[in-house]
Amino acid sequence: MIKSINPATGDVIESFKAHSADEVDAILGAADRAQRSWRRVPVEKRVPLLTAIARALRAKKEEYARLITEEIGKPITESRGEIEKCASTCDFYAANAQTFLADERIVSNATESGVVFDPLGVVLAIMPWNYPFWQFVRFAAPALAAGNGAILKHANNVPRCALAIEAMIREAGCPDGLMRTVLIDASAVSGLIADDRIAAVTLTGSTEVGQIVAAQAGKSLKKQVLELGGSDPFIVLPDADIATAAATAVKARFVNVGQSCVNAKRFIVHDDIADAFSDAFITGIRALKVGDPMDEATQIGPMARMNLRANLHDQVTRSIAEGAVLVLGGTPIDGPGSYYAPTLLDRVTPEHTSFKEELFGPVASIIRYSSTEEAIALANNTEFGLGASVWTTDLDLARRMAREIDAGAVFINGMVASDARLPFGGIKKSGYGRELGSYGIREFTNMKTIWIG
Ligand code: NAP
Repeated sequence: MIKSINPATGDVIESFKAHSADEVDAILGAADRAQRSWRRVPVEKRVPLLTAIARALRAKKEEYARLITEEIGKPITESRGEIEKCASTCDFYAANAQTFLADERIVSNATESGVVFDPLGVVLAIMPWNYPFWQFVRFAAPALAAGNGAILKHANNVPRCALAIEAMIREAGCPDGLMRTVLIDASAVSGLIADDRIAAVTLTGSTEVGQIVAAQAGKSLKKQVLELGGSDPFIVLPDADIATAAATAVKARFVNVGQSCVNAKRFIVHDDIADAFSDAFITGIRALKVGDPMDEATQIGPMARMNLRANLHDQVTRSIAEGAVLVLGGTPIDGPGSYYAPTLLDRVTPEHTSFKEELFGPVASIIRYSSTEEAIALANNTEFGLGASVWTTDLDLARRMAREIDAGAVFINGMVASDARLPFGGIKKSGYGRELGSYGIREFTNMKTIWIG
């Protein structure tokens, strides 16, 4: 059984029977057939589907936002923001897919030559629970526009969101079978990856699962995009606007109850301003309103699952034992629900767990440094390479640092966030491939060379 559990109360909301092997087989067969027709539909006739999905998302924004909050505990105001972002991303690809997928002329010794962008087929999307609508939509909007089909294997703690996404896309007019949700255990995923009707795989999730899925997809030689974990640095130089940096730091670390891949996780702060930054950061963290995620004023709800909270607490406990200084929080909150107190650790070093591992929850770590080169070295001293932000008024220096930092994105004087117009993805153990922008839509295409003599 796949259970939907409200993390604010621990109550089981609903249970679902997993799809049987025969049901999955039928779903794949139907998706394969639907995609073979869909690929022949010209892009301009595909994109009205995205406009209809955007409309459906907006029409039921409140219902979908509640579903998210009930299943993962995201504060309701943020859940609404997630649905709005999905809708605007569908609008973006509806407006731009044709341009991004336009045939390209390339001069060669042919009479005419160039590239066309054909779809790959049906893509298996293995998705995490933390942005249950957004993670899927940011893949699916461009993938469907490019002529692909999509099978969603969602995280097993968000089955109601997974089924709502399928129903919403069907009701928006998606051809029968082209997009389906499968309710299956993670152990059944390898069979789908190996299936000939699956052309490619996209995974958003942890690095550990990325390694498993990459090996399985590699065995079948299938294209993959991997959006994995991160431990983003947030570097504050001595000339930064400290008040703005600290206020943004609170948002950058604690949005989504600290459970975002691009949350800033390591705050690398110059010695000269570390105390001032820390004071402002503490004030901001103390002001966060912890409570019922359905309450409009709540900024910190429960973590998504009890086992995630237990793992986070173990990481915090180890970090303190290793020498990190506990400034705020550091404990699960008593009572029902998987709440964890907003936590600040100071004087963290590269030897500590909270520096080395991804902490996926409401815990910030301050690391102090004394020279710019040291800050860059600290930022890069990680197996991850997703995002980074740099805070300074010296933009020449910031631009130079941006080129030295090993990450898929560097934001200067701003918080790392995805944007439909810009490519998004990581390097190192944060994965490979890109989503969003003009680059993302091409990931699941066959860039086919056409040569005419
Ligand atoms: P996860 O445990 O890796 O799960 C992600 C998905 O993989 C779920 O659907 C899960 O299904 C499935 N899965 C688990 N084991 C599998 C296996 N052996 N074979 C195939 N699929 C398997 O990650 P999570 O806890 O849901 O999400 C948190 C992680 O995702 C963090 O590390 C975070 O940084 C990362 N993330 C990255 C991005 C990005 O864009 N780079 C965005 C968001 C999150 P079950 O639920 O059934 O186990």
